[in-house]
Amino acid sequence: MNTHFEVLFIGGGNAGLSASAHLLLQKPNLKVGIIEPSSKHYYQPAWTLVGGGVYDIKDTEREEKDYIPKGATWLQEYAQTFIPEKNSVTTKEGNTYTYDYLVVCPGIQLNWSAIKGLPETLGKNGVTSNYSFKYAPYTFEILKNFKGGNILFHSPHTPVKCGGAPQKIMYLAADYLRKHGLLEKSNVQFWSGGTKIFGVPKYEKTLLKVIARYNIKTNFFQDLVEVDGPNKKAKFIGLGEHNKGVETWVDFDILHITPPQGPPDFIKNSPLANAAGWVDVDKGTLQHVRYPNVFSLGDASSLPTSKTGAAIRKQTPTMVANLLAVMDHKPLKKIYTGYTSCPIVTAYGKLMLAEFDYNNEPMETFPFDQSKERWSMYQLKRQVLPRLYWGAIIRGRMQG
Ligand SMILES: Cc1cc2nc3c(=O)[nH]c(=O)nc-3n(C[C@H](O)[C@H](O)[C@H](O)COP(=O)(O)OP(=O)(O)OC[C@H]3O[C@@H](n4cnc5c(N)ncnc54)[C@H](O)[C@@H]3O)c2cc1C
Repeated sequence: MNTHFEVLFIGGGNAGLSASAHLLLQKPNLKVGIIEPSSKHYYQPAWTLVGGGVYDIKDTEREEKDYIPKGATWLQEYAQTFIPEKNSVTTKEGNTYTYDYLVVCPGIQLNWSAIKGLPETLGKNGVTSNYSFKYAPYTFEILKNFKGGNILFHSPHTPVKCGGAPQKIMYLAADYLRKHGLLEKSNVQFWSGGTKIFGVPKYEKTLLKVIARYNIKTNFFQDLVEVDGPNKKAKFIGLGEHNKGVETWVDFDILHITPPQGPPDFIKNSPLANAAGWVDVDKGTLQHVRYPNVFSLGDASSLPTSKTGAAIRKQTPTMVANLLAVMDHKPLKKIYTGYTSCPIVTAYGKLMLAEFDYNNEPMETFPFDQSKERWSMYQLKRQVLPRLYWGAIIRGRMQG
């Protein structure tokens, strides 16, 4: 068995496939390995639409083998320990692989059991989450059967992938209730560990209007800590100066949860991690700050931007160009400025495309005011982006 690779990738998700394919398009003869345990690949951004009943969950899942780039070797195992001084990685299955260069991109970890009572009740008792392939369809099932009452949407204080996703489903649900004459009989609530609805003022302004339109009650500085499924009650704890430690039990008919998230344990416990547990890379070059032959991109990296697939599209060419520069003993030149994007669905047929950089400054693609809700941007998410994802983005094309 081949155990040495010129470039070894950890994770063959959005980042691992895009970057390995992009690299091989430029240097087809490189000996590339990808450690990736899953036999399926998921287009996660569409899970929001699945929860809203306008996308088939089956269309978000494909075979991983069909997307491993030509020329790469797929090692279907779990990476477990790193010894960067020896350029080696050992897997849970007990194999050790060595590399000249390492690219670490195993995504973010979903910590479902950090909320007491959640694992037992998720997928029943009106408790759901679009953050899971298994449960996203349940979101629409309970919405369809809802006759009015308390409908709660939660966002934790931790970093999450796609920071907008906890609220996108709330706007879709509120619009669904409006269309079915149920909004007046419903109490739509947003409970968030964050401090405001959105970090970029230009887009926050629009979202505050959307919230007023649906008469949504917002509660910030609040973390969900416990769910009592059978009795349909959720417990929140205050995080702010004004409400620190204050417990509030809230009755619900529907509870949509975004699980607390963090770096994968095997990264957190490795020499590659920073103090917070993420792969410790330079925010401009994506090169590891201590091991120059190691790079990282995507949700597992320490890059201080909002964790999205859109961000990975811009990180990929930077990472690949700088990796090739290191191989050629040239200076690293390409700089990532923190670009990320959050397509916020605000209704069926309406979307605001937020795009911004490390400084929360808008970094927009289109020559119109992107803080407006638009039908065309909804179509971009619903029709265009999934095709680009499967056909170009994870094939290593259309980066940047
Ligand atoms: C509900 C939802 C809505 C979203 N909406 C959007 C959106 O509208 N726009 C947008 O741009 N982004 C969106 N995202 C975020 C986007 O999906 C992620 O940011 C993106 O998938 C991150 O890519 P990644 O490669 O870092 O991680 P992933 O794509 O999650 O891939 C990580 C891979 O690493 C593998 N792995 C895990 N452990 C190991 C191990 N021990 N060894 C080796 N491999 C391992 C996993 O099996 C997986 O294949 C959304 C996500 C969700 C859940």
